[in-house]
Amino acid sequence: MAFIKINKENFFHNLSQFTKKTGSKNSIAIVLKDNAYGHGLELMAKLSAEFGLTQAVVRTYSEAEKIKKYFKQILILGDKALEDDSCSFALNSLEDIKKAQIGSMVELKVDTGMHRNGISIDEIEEALKLIEEKELMLVGLMTHNRSADELSSELFWQQKNFEKAVGSVTPNKNIRTHSFNSATSLRLPCENEDLIRLGIGAYGYSELPTIYDTLKLKPVLSLWAKKVSTRELKKGERVGYGGQFTAPKNMTVSTYDLGYGDGWMRSNSFEQPFVTAEGLPLLGRVSMDYVILESTKDEVCIFNDALSAGKALGTISYELMTQLHADIKRVVI
Ligand SMILES: *Cc1c(COP(=O)(O)O)cnc(C)c1O
Repeated sequence: MAFIKINKENFFHNLSQFTKKTGSKNSIAIVLKDNAYGHGLELMAKLSAEFGLTQAVVRTYSEAEKIKKYFKQILILGDKALEDDSCSFALNSLEDIKKAQIGSMVELKVDTGMHRNGISIDEIEEALKLIEEKELMLVGLMTHNRSADELSSELFWQQKNFEKAVGSVTPNKNIRTHSFNSATSLRLPCENEDLIRLGIGAYGYSELPTIYDTLKLKPVLSLWAKKVSTRELKKGERVGYGGQFTAPKNMTVSTYDLGYGDGWMRSNSFEQPFVTAEGLPLLGRVSMDYVILESTKDEVCIFNDALSAGKALGTISYELMTQLHADIKRVVI
């Protein structure tokens, strides 16, 4: 089957870069949601702990349970709050507060302009009252930025709104406050942040316009496929479903064991063929389990840079990587 190589040195390099910005490993929470952006949840948890990180962020409690042993504290973004010494839960709405189990550790998410999740600034007082009534343990106040990776001042407008929220909550509460994702951490100084929630940057990418490229990041994941069979094509013979690719000359092609069933995108095999990291265009349509290349190599690298590969496929690095199925074997190099 196709397989994924995880470059540990590059991962540690990226984490070191961000550690220089925060000044401490303890103020970095590695975001491991969605199978660690396709890299493998447990594997990346283990490597993060080996590097010295003590905090993580996931979406669900069941993800947290799989990686608890590696971290001191895990923030869960989208699940019902439960009592657990090592997990805190983001409260995305007043409803979430009502559903939370007594005694759970919670972090109040405020909506500072993204309008996706979080309670509005006007509701903070009500939320704090409810939290107290429900006997929840408030440990944090957080928000999320909608445009940190775009060339605009929106980030600063949201930061101002967050400061307002922080100003109205923290004077009488000893809690942490956090709002930085990767793009924000690349744009702004981090040394005064209680915590940054580091996702895509740790995996080696910045979707920021290049003028912002403040840190040199290195891709961690590469996708590889193995040869299944080789054949000779005569000029004019056509290959794959629909016979979409016609051999312009006699050529030797091989089938490799990667397809849309593994989470590799089929979508634009129609107009422009995707070109692999080694410069080979995919010939014809992507099948469920196979692609065809003009190569006889036993193993080929499909991509090692999700940013450029994502662009070629009309998407972003995040989507390309999170789609890669969890049962593809991950090997650390
Ligand atoms: C996914 C996520 C992050 C990480 O974002 P990156 O852009 O990958 O760094 C941070 N905070 C929240 C709330 C998220 O959902």
